[in-house]
Amino acid sequence: MEQVEQDPDFVTLSRQFKAIAMELISILEQKQKTGGRIKVLLETLPFHKLADIFVASFEISFEEQLCMLDSVDPKVRLSKATELVDRHLQSIRVAEKITQKVEGQLSKSQKEYLLRQQMRAIKEELGDNDDDEDDLASLERKMQNAGMPSNIWKHAQRELRRLKKMQPQQPGYNSSRVYLDLLADLPWQKASEEQEMDLKAAKDHFDCDHYGLVKIKQRIFEYLAVRKLKPDARGPVLCFVGPPGVGKTSLASSIAAALGRKFIRISLGGVKDEADIRGHRRTYIGSMPGRLIDGLKRVGVCNPVMLLDEIDKTGSDVRGDPASALLEVLDPEQNKSFNDHYLNVPFDLSKVIFVATANRMQPIPPPLLDRMEVIELPGYTAEEKLRIAMQHLIPRVLDQHGLSSAFLQIPEDMVKLVIQRYTREAGVRNLERNLAALARAAAVRVAEREQAVSVSKDVHKITSPLLDNRLAEGAEMEMEVIPIGVNNHEISNAFRIASPLVVDEAMLEKILGPPRFDDREAADRVATPGVSVGLVWTAFGGEVQFVEATSVVGNGELHLTGQLGDVIKESAQIALTWVRARVADLKLAAAEETDLLQGKDIHIHFPAGAVPKDGPSAGVTLVTALVSLFSQKNVRADTAMTGEMTLRGLVLPVGGVKDKVLAAHRYGIKRVILPERNLKDLVEVPAAVLSSLEILVAKRMEDVLEHAFDGGCPWRQHQHSKL
Ligand code: ADP
Repeated sequence: MEQVEQDPDFVTLSRQFKAIAMELISILEQKQKTGGRIKVLLETLPFHKLADIFVASFEISFEEQLCMLDSVDPKVRLSKATELVDRHLQSIRVAEKITQKVEGQLSKSQKEYLLRQQMRAIKEELGDNDDDEDDLASLERKMQNAGMPSNIWKHAQRELRRLKKMQPQQPGYNSSRVYLDLLADLPWQKASEEQEMDLKAAKDHFDCDHYGLVKIKQRIFEYLAVRKLKPDARGPVLCFVGPPGVGKTSLASSIAAALGRKFIRISLGGVKDEADIRGHRRTYIGSMPGRLIDGLKRVGVCNPVMLLDEIDKTGSDVRGDPASALLEVLDPEQNKSFNDHYLNVPFDLSKVIFVATANRMQPIPPPLLDRMEVIELPGYTAEEKLRIAMQHLIPRVLDQHGLSSAFLQIPEDMVKLVIQRYTREAGVRNLERNLAALARAAAVRVAEREQAVSVSKDVHKITSPLLDNRLAEGAEMEMEVIPIGVNNHEISNAFRIASPLVVDEAMLEKILGPPRFDDREAADRVATPGVSVGLVWTAFGGEVQFVEATSVVGNGELHLTGQLGDVIKESAQIALTWVRARVADLKLAAAEETDLLQGKDIHIHFPAGAVPKDGPSAGVTLVTALVSLFSQKNVRADTAMTGEMTLRGLVLPVGGVKDKVLAAHRYGIKRVILPERNLKDLVEVPAAVLSSLEILVAKRMEDVLEHAFDGGCPWRQHQHSKL
């Protein structure tokens, strides 16, 4: 042993062992207070013995014990013992770390609990009962009063019990709380009281709110009358189809008023996700109920009139098809138990009266269209717009701007000018906007007058032209007034009773800018051969569409521009082929065999180039433009046309005739060429419009050409000369 003790390796090992052993002991000492004795041992006993004592007291495996006994060399024993002591030390450290962590957490929640208890006590002292438990109690009370059906009540109670067991800061507490709030807020039974409907009063109300629309109002009365006789009848779902600003939304809200029900509008424009209608399941973070359930919660009754606005603007994509959800909503058999994914319990929608609006019928999926009764609103004539403006829009606009006719007067002639020069739409929305612009300008002046130094009535009369000019420029007017020497006191308040501002043409231009439209447009555009005037149908109602054709040196190709769809491109091909096949008949060339395209390219353009166009109804317009180009004769500027054409020259009927005729009237066109089989559609066109237009029917393409050119169709002349 003595030899070994001199060995430097042994010395280093012993030092190492001592350090670790000391550390272990000091940790144990903190825990059990028995380390003192061992410490003394550590100081007194030789190291190799100590190592044996230490190892004997550890719980180690049998193999390790054997291995220890096996090592006779004290150096080996010491190094093995060091290793074991170190292992023991590490395991104690890890265990300690874990307990510390757990203790930390425990004490944190205990602290919170304590603070909460204190807070509760403080609140109680203050008489402030707004704490969680009271909150839940009030929620429960609200749920009891919500009138839920029994099965849903059970479901809600289960959810409430779960909520009560949760801590407010626990995840899921809030979502569960919001969900129960929704359940409690939904109008399971609450309905607005339906009064005995007075049909006469309803009729007056409709007449008072809406000018014209006779047939549509008639249909609505029938609907209301059936409702009166049989309030729980499953009436059809009305769907108003028409261009913007023709009064679809306001008709629907008038229906609600007539029925004495609440009105809620749900916008479906741009809804592509089924979840927008049906909601997201509650498992998703940020899940919400669908728009219908949300709307019902907002309106607070289960029998409102619900307007599904812009039902034609829903689309479908990877996120599902909103139309299929709407099908369920609108089906009286299925909507008794409408299933919102978020709500997860059925809700009865059968008491809701649905009304839908759309700009066009074509994009509405057929099964959905099948569930609704379509009522078309074609748009207004200029005369109707004038009446609407005078009777409804002007009073409303004045009222909205805090004005009255004592401040601003818009004479009928000026309204006519606004309609002709500043708007060219089927509805009246832009008209209303323009009138509002006039009212705003007047409001500024009236407000300024009140602030500026006022002028007496007499003075105002004398200087009125000058003053009006100044007013038009928005300038202050003291300088004009004060030199006249009227005393300030006398002239106070005079402006309030000054004569009203009367809108004139100059003021129109000043406020609304230079005129945007005029009737000369068609004449200007058709001034060269190769241009014809067509009528098309868009989401904004009917429109006039020019078609331009020209030829350039080339090798017989047809170029088409103006963002055209496939159908319209094919129409252009058909038109060109038809014209080429009848070169001689149409007197476009002397001999039958002459090829019109020899050494030429044809380019057809549909302005405006930025608007996409498609559809078959431009067929006759294309042929007319081509015939005009090849014969170098101008098409009549006062004539517009529509119609699909077959390859053999038959003219087929097209849709949207009513809107197209109204558009022609708006553009100041005098003659309209229509397919013969569309004549029946003219009954829907207002008589005033029809009487101002010459309607020309066409069965074959030659009839169209006959009407489109001054002096008739070259073909006919050709045939006449033969006869
Ligand atoms: P839509 O829903 O068809 O786009 P709105 O119902 O919003 O149109 O109508 C636009 C505005 O035009 C509303 O202020 C409405 O009161 C008015 N309006 C439309 N048609 C008439 C009418 N026949 N009589 C009176 N006001 C009308």
